[in-house]
Amino acid sequence: MSKLIQQLTIIGVGLIGGSLARALKQAEVCGEIVGCGRNEAELKKAVELGVIDRYALDQAEAVRGADMVLLAVPLGAMRAVMTSIAPAIGKNTILTDVGSAKGSVVDDAKAVFGEMPRNLVPGHPIAGTEKSGVEASFATLYQGRKVILTPLENGDEAALKTVAAMWRHAGADVVEMSVEHHDRVLAATSHLPHVLAYALVDSLARMDETGEVFKYAAGGFRDFTRIASSDAQMWHDICLANRHEVLNMLGRFREDLDALTSAFETADGEAILKCFSRAKRARDHFSKIMAE
Ligand code: NAP
Repeated sequence: MSKLIQQLTIIGVGLIGGSLARALKQAEVCGEIVGCGRNEAELKKAVELGVIDRYALDQAEAVRGADMVLLAVPLGAMRAVMTSIAPAIGKNTILTDVGSAKGSVVDDAKAVFGEMPRNLVPGHPIAGTEKSGVEASFATLYQGRKVILTPLENGDEAALKTVAAMWRHAGADVVEMSVEHHDRVLAATSHLPHVLAYALVDSLARMDETGEVFKYAAGGFRDFTRIASSDAQMWHDICLANRHEVLNMLGRFREDLDALTSAFETADGEAILKCFSRAKRARDHFSKIMAE
């Protein structure tokens, strides 16, 4: 029986690529899933776990014969991977990715392919955990979660439909927006919170000479800083790739933090309470929406 995708090649069988492979296997929509990465032991593990059917260490060999290639490597590796697969990728092969910033992926594709490939469908699943690697992957990661596709001008409609259908089979809710809009929104909702969590934990760790701070850290600290356990290299890549939007958000946040600092300097309780109350209302509203 004909499948949605005959051969899906996933370069980067980690948390994100591995979870998609697991979900698509359960949905039985791929003829074969081929994995590729640098570490053979990890790829062998992926085969043993039933995440992929087979693997190739050579990227060009891995994409040969694929009707869809998914790039699920860190953003800093995208351009090198595209360069390796460019000579081997089929003319009609759909190329998609899961990178957490989209402008840099589009720039990489332009630089490598000379012109924008019509079959390129940039994507970003809004799902993840602070863990990495194929062993951390699970089939339900995308259930009910959003996947943002950022279709390109003159991009192939059929390629877009197939990528959207793939994510829906993995349980995701697919939405579309422009590359620029994606990078602006994600800088606010994801990249800035990661920068702040890393910066806070780093500040506290460097001043915590006696171990007092972490010894008495409670639920609030854990909630606020969980994402500082995320892979540092991956978030370095993401924040640097989207640095213009991250800088813009840091500037806006710094202004608000300055205003709050002034309120503390002048013991302006009214201003402090206003800020905290506004935030609580916004967070409660957000929690309600998330629970629906
Ligand atoms: P991960 O678990 O560390 O997986 C990354 C995979 O890429 C690994 O299998 C790694 O295998 C492979 N890889 C790394 N460098 C490579 C290179 N130079 N060439 C070929 N393969 C390489 O990371 P992840 O969380 O799945 O993230 C992958 C992508 O998803 C990133 O672009 C990230 O921005 C995006 N994303 C992440 C999240 C999240 O919350 N984690 C959410 C949405 C999107 P080897 O080491 O064996 O090469």
